[in-house]
Parts: sequence; C-alpha cells; structure tokens
Amino acid sequence: MKGSGTQDLIQGLLAGNRRALARAITLIENRDPAARDILRHIYPLAADPAIIGVTGAPGVGKSTLVAALTRAYRARGRRVGVLAVDPSSPFTGGALLGDRVRLMTAERDDDVYFRSVATRGRVGGLSRATASVLQVMAAASFDPILLETVGAGQSEVEVMGLAETVLVVLAPGLGDEIQAFKAGILEIGDIFVVNKADREGADRTVTELKAMLALGPGHPGEDDGHWRPPVIKTVARDGEGIEELIEAIVEHRRFVRASGRTAARRRRLAEQQLWESAAERLVADLQQAAQARSLWSEAVAAIAEGRRDPDSVVEDLLAAVDGRKEASEPQEKGGVGA
Ligand code: GDP
Repeated sequence: MKGSGTQDLIQGLLAGNRRALARAITLIENRDPAARDILRHIYPLAADPAIIGVTGAPGVGKSTLVAALTRAYRARGRRVGVLAVDPSSPFTGGALLGDRVRLMTAERDDDVYFRSVATRGRVGGLSRATASVLQVMAAASFDPILLETVGAGQSEVEVMGLAETVLVVLAPGLGDEIQAFKAGILEIGDIFVVNKADREGADRTVTELKAMLALGPGHPGEDDGHWRPPVIKTVARDGEGIEELIEAIVEHRRFVRASGRTAARRRRLAEQQLWESAAERLVADLQQAAQARSLWSEAVAAIAEGRRDPDSVVEDLLAAVDGRKEASEPQEKGGVGA
C-alpha cells in the first residue's frame, strides 16, 4: 500500500528536497513499512555516489577532517552528505559526531546534509539500516557521502564495508598505530591519514605505519594488482593535506572501478543484504506464527528456566508452524513449495 503521502515523499526525495530526505531516513530508522515502499522505488534508479568511509579512534580528528573534506568538496561544487554512525554509544545514538561536523562547517548550506544514525539500542541490522540510509541520500543527489564511524568493533568494520574508499585516521603520539594494528583496522584501510601532522612524532607515526603496511597485501615492489594504501599527512584543523587526500580518494576510486572490484564488492554487499533481509523476515514470520499459537512465550520460558536449549526449541517451533500450514493449505499443488 503506497499512500499519496509516500508518493510525495519519493518525489521530494528525487528532487533533492532535504525535508523529504530527513523524513525518509526517520522512516527507515523506525522500520516503518512506508520505508519499504520508498526503497523499492529508489533502488532501481542506480544513483552511484562516491561513498567515503572515515574511521579511527576517538580524538584523532575525524570530525575535523570530515568538516575539512566537506568544505573542499563544496568548493568543487559537489553536494555533500555526511552520515555519522556510532554503534558504541546507544545513549547519544551517534548524535554527537554529526553535530560536531555541523558546528564546524557553514550552516544553512542547502547542499550539505548531515545525519546521525541512531542505533536505539537495537541488536544487529545496523549496516543494513545504514545501507538504506545511504540509498536515500544518494537518491537525493548527494555525492560524495562521507560515512563516519568510531573505532574498530565488528559493527564499525561492517559499516565501513559499505564504503567504496575507507580512510583510517590516526594521530601521532597516542599509540594509535599500535591500537589500530591490534584492532585489525589496517585491513580495512584504503588510505591512511596521519592527522595532527603539526604535532611532534607525526613522521615517526608515518614511518611505523608504512612498515606495518609493507607486511600486508600490495606492499611496495610487488606487482600483483593490489591497491597500495598511501599514507597521507594532514592538519585537518587548518585544511592542510586535504587536496592531496582528495586526489588519493579519486585515484582509489579509479583503481577499484578499473579493476572490477566494484562489481565484486557490490555482489558481496548484495549477498549480505539479501541474507539479513531474509533472516529478518523469516524470524518475524516464525515469531508471529508462534505467537498466534501462544507458543512463543512458552518457548522463551523453557529456555530461561533451563528446561530446553534454543536449537531444539526452534526445531519444535518450526515443526509446529509447518503443521499449521499443512492443516490449512492443500498440499502437492505444483511441487514448488516443499
Ligand atoms: P574525533 O573524535 O576523531 O572526531 O576528533 P575531533 O575532530 O573531535 O578532534 C579532536 C580534537 O583534535 C579537537 O580538539 C580538534 O580541534 C583537534 N584537532 C583536529 N585536527 C587537528 C589537527 O590537525 N591538529 C591539531 N593539533 N589538533 C587537531
């Protein structure tokens, strides 16, 4: 069911209307059924913005860097989207990141759009929700979209998987390079940014980082078709190094597109999205069917009281729900269903 409200919203979205965009994102966050209609409509339109991930430990200067990049892209006449995701902070719902960037750039610019994705304490589905938000931002003609997260937990790494180019930001003197190495963040970086290059120890951080990267794929001297992640020094606060960084981003985009990696990445993301979407739907169906027969709360109680294990409870629920289907649907019609 697609109400005229939803139609208007889609039209507004495609016209680049910010209020329509804000509304669409809220619908996605709230898992409103109208969000499904919107996504169904815009998915085939194939907007293809540059999605630039920005990650790193708190305090390294991500927000300052995102603000500097935003200004630089605006100076090039681009329409810039900024999406901040902070899975580690259910209390702020990630609002802090986006707000900090907002404060640092020109306000009331119609061609810059900031948004934070609130996790609202929900488990899982964060990267799927983020992917949907990226889709609607793209439909509203924002390109590039800067996708910012904190740290390197599993969900941050997953969210960064949505970006075409991932910037890993470090700062000298904080032991960040070691921290990053431990957290496995080196594997996801396409470009490494040593920010706060005005501080002492920046060159040492660059050297250490390069040494670590030399152990990974695409190390110098090897011609195996791998991307060699560059290390770029910036002073985000003063806008230094930003032009060089943008050049590296352009170069990376060119590389991944020419090497066919984009197609492979899209397939991987598509499979992940299909999997998550199917899982969500099937679980909801099972829960609904079980609740309809008052089996769900008994199942919860059985596990909680240690009488049963989850796997066998699910087995029983599936059997009970299938039994219900058999009772209500004629069998063996075309042999497709079984
Ligand atoms: P985030 O937590 O990674 O988003 O870091 P912020 O962007 O909030 O920056 C943390 C602090 O570092 C702020 O006080 C910034 O003003 C400061 N900062 C950001 N970039 C630079 C830089 O290039 N040089 C110096 N010295 N300080 C910076």
